[in-house]
Amino acid sequence: MTNPFDLSGKVAVVTGANTGIGQAIALALAGAGADIACVGRTPAEDTVTQARALGRRAEIVSADLSSIEPVNRIIDETVEKLGRIDILVNNAGIIRRADSIDFTEEDWDAVIDTNLKSVFFLAQAAARQMLAQGSGKIINIASMLTFQGGIRVPSYTASKSGIGGLTKLLANEWSARGINVNAIAPGYIATNNTTALQADEVRNKSIVDRIPAGRWGKASDLGGAAVFLASSASDYVDGHILAVDGGWLAR
Ligand code: NAP
Repeated sequence: MTNPFDLSGKVAVVTGANTGIGQAIALALAGAGADIACVGRTPAEDTVTQARALGRRAEIVSADLSSIEPVNRIIDETVEKLGRIDILVNNAGIIRRADSIDFTEEDWDAVIDTNLKSVFFLAQAAARQMLAQGSGKIINIASMLTFQGGIRVPSYTASKSGIGGLTKLLANEWSARGINVNAIAPGYIATNNTTALQADEVRNKSIVDRIPAGRWGKASDLGGAAVFLASSASDYVDGHILAVDGGWLAR
């Protein structure tokens, strides 16, 4: 019987692949058989080394996604180095924290540009390639703040709520043309992105107390969902936002 989760011969582009969730997803995809283009501003040396140790091809594609300037080059360089592109994981993202009453335009624009604008235009660039070949998988990284309001992170909440809408819109446009567009909404995952929350004793306790699973997530907890949405196992899954949250949204 063929394995519907097998990614052998597929090429995945993962943004922000040097650390945290992006690194864990890149390695999970590599573990399932995919070759990986590790996109980011910090070279993902460790991820490339680990993916190659799994027997995969892995390449660094340097790009700063705070603007859309590199999006076409990312796709061109991936095709040049790895031959094709089957999977795009839009993972790179930032967060800025301040009371809404004091929030600056700089903190608004920086987060929206990286987390939402670059995600759309990289998906567009990848889809031009995927539509031509009649197949592709696009996975956006959403958040609990795709569903909830959060506090002191107005641009982040706006960006991740935008990711929810954008994921559905792109699925509506492209699902009949061979591209599945979906999102993963991580719960509270211990990475650089959440260091401030983990270090704040009061917030940390209130977060863990509210998680039915009773613990922070690990970046590797996202791997299975990513392999599912990148593989033929999800060929009839479109515009879905898959929460991987230890039950946070169920409470
Ligand atoms: P992280 O450890 O801070 O990683 C963020 C990644 O994005 C890093 O690779 C970072 O590269 C990259 N990045 C940021 N700005 C970039 C830019 N301008 N150009 C290129 N790459 C850039 O955080 P994480 O928790 O793994 O976050 C990954 C994604 O998951 C983000 O979209 C985040 O919003 C989302 N998320 C995280 C959580 C959580 O609890 N951790 C929950 C929900 C959603 P550098 O290392 O060079 O900065």
